[in-house]
Amino acid sequence: MCRDVGSQVFGLINLPATRVDKKKLPAGPIGHELAPISRNPRLLFDDCLALPDDAIDQGRFANVGPADDGDDGESAHDGTLGRNENRLESEYTCPASNMADMVERVQLAEPRGFCAGVEMAIKSLTWMVRVFEAPVYCYHEIVHNRWVVDAFERVGVIFVNSMNEVPLGAPVMLSAHGSAPEVVAAAQASAGVVVDAVCPLVTKVHHEVKTLTDKGFQILYIGHGGHDEAVGTIAEAPEHITLIEPERGLESFKAKDPTKVALLAQTTLGLFEWEDVLRQSQAEFPELKTARKSDLCYATTNRQEAVQQLSTSADLVLVVGSDSSSNTRALVRVAHEAGIPAYRIDNADAIDPEWLIGKEIVGVTAGASAPDHLVSEVIDRINPRNGVELIQVTKEGEYFPLPPQLRGFLTALQAVVEAGFSASNRGGRGLLEDDRSWTATEALDLISE
Ligand code: SF4
Repeated sequence: MCRDVGSQVFGLINLPATRVDKKKLPAGPIGHELAPISRNPRLLFDDCLALPDDAIDQGRFANVGPADDGDDGESAHDGTLGRNENRLESEYTCPASNMADMVERVQLAEPRGFCAGVEMAIKSLTWMVRVFEAPVYCYHEIVHNRWVVDAFERVGVIFVNSMNEVPLGAPVMLSAHGSAPEVVAAAQASAGVVVDAVCPLVTKVHHEVKTLTDKGFQILYIGHGGHDEAVGTIAEAPEHITLIEPERGLESFKAKDPTKVALLAQTTLGLFEWEDVLRQSQAEFPELKTARKSDLCYATTNRQEAVQQLSTSADLVLVVGSDSSSNTRALVRVAHEAGIPAYRIDNADAIDPEWLIGKEIVGVTAGASAPDHLVSEVIDRINPRNGVELIQVTKEGEYFPLPPQLRGFLTALQAVVEAGFSASNRGGRGLLEDDRSWTATEALDLISE
């Protein structure tokens, strides 16, 4: 089941407590029309865009528009053609030249990006791929971010949407969004090892569902139909829960007993969406039972507060994150609510230079599952004339420990190693004591090496 116990386990014990250098990321996909050029392209793109070697060798390049601004022989963007003696009379240039210096300043939201639940889930799956032979199976995307999912797929994780796709005895991780009870049961019945990386704040809502239904409440659950978290939560008591899509409100919901109605929510909604439905529900059911604040998690509300802050000064807000990420899309809606144009982008390649026309200040943030290097690349691409200003609304210090199944497994593994090898870690720090000191970013660096 485990890889070569000796070397692998000592590798685990020595998992870095200090920061791993960020890997230099490969260039993003080359867009636009492709056309060959005959002179030295490496010089042409020097300092501008890291073209993959195979693209250079094959003469594949991006035609992204005119590089030269006219008749003076100088480039429109001094990082590209103008620097090179081998300058080409061609229309090829760095995509960054389409937007560099267009913007006066970037305002960078803090907090943004990885939350404690995502940190825990990514580190957990990293342990799984370090301990077990590939493939490791993961029920649903571990977190809703394409870059993260791709990184794990490259090291042998297979993401599935049904436990039927998992071979008997294989190691399985359940995603951060929480799984339906029948999925957890199926995993426990058939998998060799099951680690449930559900975020504790999602688990809290699952518990609320169980407690309230035991007390005879009908539950209104505000969420997005089909989202993994909503599916998993509703599955706790489907016959007692009515899904409320935030933009549609209560619609024709009829309570069996208006004194026994409760309101719960997906953790990643827009706060204003929660408040809208809350108002409506309280008006209809004065004895409504609901959380003291809401079920929206700290990461969701903090990131939204930061976007609201950005919206007071920025002309445009860019939100880094995947389309499947509910909290990412909520950040875009929060900016729209504040009357600011906002776009969700997967990465820097997705920025349309036209969005920046006439914009002096661009706010940048990221959903809770988006790696921060994608944010850095966005800022690099925008290349604001007067740098980056941090807009911090709060400091987050939340930490969620690794799932109990994983902690138990790693502790047992360490005990085996300590008992079996003379060069053991006996008396030293265990595998888990250092968990706080390394981050999901380092974990992703580790698997990307
Ligand atoms: S966004 Fe909130 S609920 Fe979701 S994983 Fe992060 S902390 Fe947990």
